[in-house]
Amino acid sequence: MSYIDLRSDTVTKPTDEMREAMARAEVGDDVYGEDPTVRRLQERAAELLGKEAALFVPSGTMGNQLCVKLHTQPGQEIIIEERSHMFNLEMAGMAVISGVLANPLRCQDGMMDWASIETAIRPRTSYFAQTGLVAVENTQNMAGGTVMSFERMTEITNNAHSAGLPVHLDGARLFNAAIVLKRDVAEIAALFDSVMFCLSKGLGAPVGSMIAGSREFIDRAVPLRRMIGGGMRQVGVLAAAGIVALEKMRSRLEEDHANAQVLARGLAEMRGLKIDPERVQTNILVFDVTETGQTPAEISAKLRQRGVLANGITARLMRMVTHKDVTRRDCEVALGAIREVLA
Ligand SMILES: *Cc1c(COP(=O)(O)O)cnc(C)c1O
Repeated sequence: MSYIDLRSDTVTKPTDEMREAMARAEVGDDVYGEDPTVRRLQERAAELLGKEAALFVPSGTMGNQLCVKLHTQPGQEIIIEERSHMFNLEMAGMAVISGVLANPLRCQDGMMDWASIETAIRPRTSYFAQTGLVAVENTQNMAGGTVMSFERMTEITNNAHSAGLPVHLDGARLFNAAIVLKRDVAEIAALFDSVMFCLSKGLGAPVGSMIAGSREFIDRAVPLRRMIGGGMRQVGVLAAAGIVALEKMRSRLEEDHANAQVLARGLAEMRGLKIDPERVQTNILVFDVTETGQTPAEISAKLRQRGVLANGITARLMRMVTHKDVTRRDCEVALGAIREVLA
């Protein structure tokens, strides 16, 4: 059975062009810095983001955690939004790898603002853990793919820098955010000390994420990546797909946003589902199913029988994600299946 898979944009399969590029890729040992395809991907990513350097990492989680380690000292705290990926979905990596605690803030639509961050910064005493980093997520995954405005990012980064704090961007879906903001990714990246983005989400590469920052920052990231097992060898075969993702797949992300609107409008009309299509800005929909009288797990199981995959993210909320392997027609079919399940 072939499924309409709305669980995540991580499920995207590599395109034919990616597979051809992978087959042809020129490779070398990247631990020696000798893989020409990896170098090309890193140079291109740095150029697109307007940063001095970039590094290919096997996952977004590894990229985020390397950045935390590079920005902080053990015993410090990170100010972060409560629903963020780095806090919830990375196996407490910041505590294990970097010895830091999260200081999570609950904010409207998952979007921190400077006023809340400022109150959370610890005064310099000998009993509070000291604040070491602010971490922003844009788009905000679990809050429903919401986008933080350029003005808000500028306010946070300017003030944090004045307070002597670095700011990391978990930009797993940075290119989706840039479309909505109508900004070049380099304008966004310029605000932050480090940026992580994923090749393996909407951009469709099978594996991989990038971190970007100053030359000095990336030079320090290389041995740390090695330490946690991320030093890879003839990895140009994966970087080749990443290059196709960067060059060919950015321009189609808007289609995913349009398909998410189709889903959102359809869901909003169904009794018992709570979702505001106006708040669906990118390719992620999060909606409350409490009033249907069914749990997310029950709805998921019934949808699966009808060829549609979607998961609950809490006891009340479900999430759907559009991507290149879901067509407009698939969205309409999925809406039909949901209508049946709720009837
Ligand atoms: C997917 C994602 C990541 C990284 O996930 P990996 O599965 O480790 O590649 C990080 N942050 C956010 C917001 C994400 O959605």
